[in-house]
Amino acid sequence: MAKIIVLHPDASKLSSIATKINALNKKSGPFDPIILIGDALPEEEETLSTVRFEPQILCAPGSQSLKYVGDDHRELEGSNISYLGKYGTLTKADGITIAFVTGDEKVLDDEMEQILQDLRGKKVDVLITYQWPYAIANERELFFGNTNIDRIVRQTQPQYHFAVGSNVGKFFERPPFQWSDSLTNTRFISLGEFESGDKWIYAFNINATQELKPPANLTPNPFETEEVTQPKKRVFEEPLADDTSKKIRLRKVVSPENCFFCLSNPKLESHMIISIGEHAYLTIAKGPLTRPTRLMNFSGHCIIIPVAHIPSLDSSYDNKSVVETPLYNEIMRYQVSLVKFFDSFELATVFFQINKADSVHFHIQCFPIPADFLTKFSSVLERKSKYNNEKLIQNTKLMFQKFEDTEDPKYLEFIDSKKDYISFTLFNRSISKQEVYITYIDCSKSLDLQFGRRVLADLLQTPKRIKWDKCKQSRTVEEQETEAFKEKFKSYDFTMEG
Ligand SMILES: [Zn+2]
Repeated sequence: MAKIIVLHPDASKLSSIATKINALNKKSGPFDPIILIGDALPEEEETLSTVRFEPQILCAPGSQSLKYVGDDHRELEGSNISYLGKYGTLTKADGITIAFVTGDEKVLDDEMEQILQDLRGKKVDVLITYQWPYAIANERELFFGNTNIDRIVRQTQPQYHFAVGSNVGKFFERPPFQWSDSLTNTRFISLGEFESGDKWIYAFNINATQELKPPANLTPNPFETEEVTQPKKRVFEEPLADDTSKKIRLRKVVSPENCFFCLSNPKLESHMIISIGEHAYLTIAKGPLTRPTRLMNFSGHCIIIPVAHIPSLDSSYDNKSVVETPLYNEIMRYQVSLVKFFDSFELATVFFQINKADSVHFHIQCFPIPADFLTKFSSVLERKSKYNNEKLIQNTKLMFQKFEDTEDPKYLEFIDSKKDYISFTLFNRSISKQEVYITYIDCSKSLDLQFGRRVLADLLQTPKRIKWDKCKQSRTVEEQETEAFKEKFKSYDFTMEG
C-alpha cells in the first residue's frame, strides 16, 4: 500500500509550503510520493534555491510549465523536486503507476494520438491532468472541461484522477463511479490553489491491485453515457412533423459522406461487405464479439444496414406500417438467410437493434452463438437491465417484454409506435423458433449504446470482448474473414438468386 499526498501550491509561496509539507511528512508520513499539481513552479528557476523540501517531490506539468520549465523529465537543481515533463508514466517500486499529461491545450490537441498510444495497455493507478474532463465539467455545468481528457480517462480508467481545472483551481471531490468493463472504481478530485480558500491538499492510501468492490456511495459513470461522447456534434432540430411526442429531438449531425455505414462515404470500409441488396446490405463487424468455431472458420458477427442514411426504421415512410416497407422486407430476408446460414454451422442467431430517432444510421447487429447459451438469455438480460435501471440512474429504464410471434398486434404496436425502442431477436436454429425481447426507451435519457454487446458478452462469458475497439482485427484478417463468410454465404444469399 502506498501513502500519497497531492497538493496544489502557489508557485510564489513554495518556501512556506515546503516547511508545512516537511512537518506533515514527519508527523503523518512518510508519503511516497508527494505530488505537486497545477502551475506549481516559478518562472525563474533560480528562486527555487530558497525552497527546502526534505522528501523527494514530484511535480506534474501545469498549463504553463512547458513554456518555462520545458518538455523533459529532469531534476530541478538544489530543490529535491523532480519535474515530470510533458507527459508520460512513472511506476514506483511498489507497483503504483502514475500517469501525467500537460495542461497545455494546444499540445493536447496536437499530440493526443501519441499520448493515447503511449498509455495503451498500461495499468494506471493515479492520473494527473491539470484540465478537467468534459464529462465531469459538463455534469457540474462548468465551462472548462477538455474532451481530450475524457479520452485519456476512458482509456486508462485510473483509481484516482487529479486535476485543477483553472488557474487558481477549484476544489471538488466527485463521488466514485465504476467502469462497466474493468469494474475499476474511479475517484475524481480537483484541488484549489494554496491559500485560495479552497481545499488544496489531499492525502490517501492506495493499493496497486485495483479495488473491485463497489464503494457504498457509487454513482453512475459520467463517461459511459451517450451524451458526452459527441458533445460538439449535437444541434437542435425542428420537431419532426409526424412526431407524436412533439418533442424537440437532439440529432447528431453526421452527413452521409462522413457516415461509417453509408455506401456513398468514400472512406467506407468496402473490404468488409458481404452482400448488397436493393434497400439493405450486409457487412462483417469491426472488432467482432463472436469467435470462429470448430465448424465455422470466421467470426460470423455481422451487421445488416439500410442503404439509405436513416436513423430508424420508422423514418423511411409515411403512413404505412413498418412491416409493409420494402426496407423491412429486405431486412427480414437477410435475417432468414442468416438464420439458415448459421444453422448450417449448428449455431443459433441473435439480432440486436436500436431504433432511435437520433441515431446516425440505423443498423442491426447479428451474432451467431451456440444454441445452448439461449437458455440463459432471459436471466442475463434481466440482470443487465436491473443493473442499468438501478445503478445507472441517468440511463433510460429498460423494461423488456417478450414476444414469440411477430404478428402479435401488441408487438406490431411497438414497432409502429414511432417511439424509440431497442430489441433482441433470438432464433433457435430455425426461423419458426423465435423470441423477441423489446423495450421502449426514453429519448430524453441516456442509452447505453453497447447494451446489446454487453448482454451478449455476458451470456457468452467473454467480458474482455465487450469493447469492439479492443477486438479490432488487422485489415488482412478482415479481408480473410469477409472472403470466408462470402464464400460460404453464397448459397444462402437471396441477392444472388436469379
Ligand atoms: Zn449513413
